[in-house]
Amino acid sequence: MKDIATVGRTKQILNDHGFTFKKSLGQNFLVDLNVIREVLDKADITDRTGIIEVGPGIGSLTEQLAKRAGKVVAYEIDQRLIPVLEDTLSPYDNVEVVNEDILKADVMTTISESLAGCDEVIVVANLPYYITTPILMHFLEQNLPIERYYVMMQKEVGERISAGPNSKSYGSLSIAIDYYTEARVVQNVPKSVFMPPPNVDSIIVEMVRRKTPKVDVDDEVLFFKLTRGAFGQRRKTILNNYSNIFENGKEKKEALHQMLEQAGIDPRRRGESLSIEDFAKIYQSARSFPDLKVSDGA
Ligand code: SAM
Repeated sequence: MKDIATVGRTKQILNDHGFTFKKSLGQNFLVDLNVIREVLDKADITDRTGIIEVGPGIGSLTEQLAKRAGKVVAYEIDQRLIPVLEDTLSPYDNVEVVNEDILKADVMTTISESLAGCDEVIVVANLPYYITTPILMHFLEQNLPIERYYVMMQKEVGERISAGPNSKSYGSLSIAIDYYTEARVVQNVPKSVFMPPPNVDSIIVEMVRRKTPKVDVDDEVLFFKLTRGAFGQRRKTILNNYSNIFENGKEKKEALHQMLEQAGIDPRRRGESLSIEDFAKIYQSARSFPDLKVSDGA
């Protein structure tokens, strides 16, 4: 039988099951084996690898993962796809499909139970684009034992994730990802490899989890408030942006000025020029100014 990730077989499966796409769930299925194989070659998958997939759809990517990996656990939110996947993935006994919203799933238990026999666990997914950032942060913030991520996403989001300082795409998302991982763009993907083709361009990003976060901070909530706050209005200086996120920031501008100078950061700089190490210095300095408090809602 032909592979699922081909135009002919995909049309056949959709037809046999009377399946119609739900745009609201980001359903754009891969119909090109070459793209999938290129990614899987880079992901270095062996029969000792355990895989977590988000959104298997009709199983195009899942099938290729099942052929190479030890075990695949695939989370699919759309209940209508469960009987389809039972059918299309029936030749593979190393796949477990879980009908759950990935943002509510207990991935840690899955890793310690379903993927217990594997040497390493990685994530491979053609993500639902409407929730790319929440999904990645859901995985990273939990400190899960996942070594690497190979994820397809909207091109602009991939560029933000992998951007460094002084570039148009650099922002608080770049810093959050850099805190947990080493990220790089693996390849661009044309719209023509999907059914139906999405309205946006796509990109595949590799993220390798760091053994420890890139900078040493005890209070991650405060650290990320300080990074997000610096980009509130991109064209404003860090001092002006911070005067909006600190309690009574406008009256305490002088103290904010001192706090930034103590960190060795010129208050006239903009967030986009600051590295994650610069933000770690700001964080340390802010902690030594007990009168300066970031607002709860920041
Ligand atoms: N992996 C398939 C492929 O490449 O052909 C389908 C990818 S499609 C871009 C995204 C898939 O994610 C869809 O099957 C969609 O139903 C599923 N999905 C959307 N939101 C989800 C969520 N919160 N949790 C789990 N799956 C979700």
